Amino acid sequence: MSKFFTARLAALTPYTPGEQPRDRKYIKLNTNESPFPPSPKAQKAAAEAAGSLQLYPDPTYLALHTAIADYHDLSTDEVLVTNGSDEILNFAFMAFCDENSPAVFPDITYGFYSVFATLNRVPYTEIPLRADFSLDKSAMMAQKGTLFIANPNAPTGLALSAAEIEEIVAANRDRVVVVDEAYVDFGGESVVPLVRKYDNLLVTRTFSKSRSMAGARLGYGVGSPSLIADLNTVKYSTNPYNVNSMSAAAGLGVMADEDYTQQNCATIIKNRESTQMALRDLGFEVTDSRGNFMFVRHPRLAGKAIYSALRARGILVRHFSKAPIADYNRITVGTAEEMAALVAALADIIKE
Ligand code: PMP
Repeated sequence: MSKFFTARLAALTPYTPGEQPRDRKYIKLNTNESPFPPSPKAQKAAAEAAGSLQLYPDPTYLALHTAIADYHDLSTDEVLVTNGSDEILNFAFMAFCDENSPAVFPDITYGFYSVFATLNRVPYTEIPLRADFSLDKSAMMAQKGTLFIANPNAPTGLALSAAEIEEIVAANRDRVVVVDEAYVDFGGESVVPLVRKYDNLLVTRTFSKSRSMAGARLGYGVGSPSLIADLNTVKYSTNPYNVNSMSAAAGLGVMADEDYTQQNCATIIKNRESTQMALRDLGFEVTDSRGNFMFVRHPRLAGKAIYSALRARGILVRHFSKAPIADYNRITVGTAEEMAALVAALADIIKE
């Protein structure tokens, strides 16, 4: 750290992304990426866009906004594309949170929320999940401030129904509720259809998971025109060209290939269910995950020990050391072959 770093930022603990080791080839099940390549249509569109990189992108991203708006049956003024959904989440902290509207989110959820809060000088309250990892809705609502709910939640995989989310949004019309639907395509219920009904609802989405484009860094938010206008003020005050031309083109390409996305999601869901069954047969406890990942523990073995034993066998998973979940590992759902290797490795590990 330099002596010039501000005291406030010197105290910031940044988000720790999943490791990307290069010491050997791993079966990578630690960052919830898709095991499938991007749609051929996305790849072709990105390659074509490379020929025009001398130009800035259209800062209104009209073509991509139109495709996303059509997909959700919304208008372009209800959509904002961003550099990954991380960026729309950061914009939401900047736009809708301050000392009068502190951020409220569960204590076990996407680790970036607390980092964005600190970065933006936003006070925040973490609401403990119940022992079964379900969300304590009334405790969330009892706090004043802007609510952030990952649905399905990460890393637990548990999801609330759309009706439960609606109850929260409807009971809190005087504050923004941000619903992070990064994993919704793997079996969650979306509340995007509610954005016309509730002007306090912002839903964030990503192309990183179900659309196999984590490397493109493309996400978006949908909400009422006035919420989107506020987020645009933040965007035009930070980076008007926040999505690069190749990623915007790739996004258009994959939106035109919905069958490809749906097929991949169906495969991931099938692989998740069969792997979870195999793990339960081995004595593992598994949550009812609606994401492209599983949240798994063994009654006899520590989470960290399982993580290390898998790593030694060339399989990378994500372990969080936070107390209530330290016995768990979050394991991304991969191809059938990767899942077979995972189950074989875990069977071997519990025998030792
Ligand atoms: N929300 C949740 C719950 C996530 O797990 C992630 C990715 N790890 C994101 C948002 C951000 O994803 P991206 O920036 O790739 O869209």
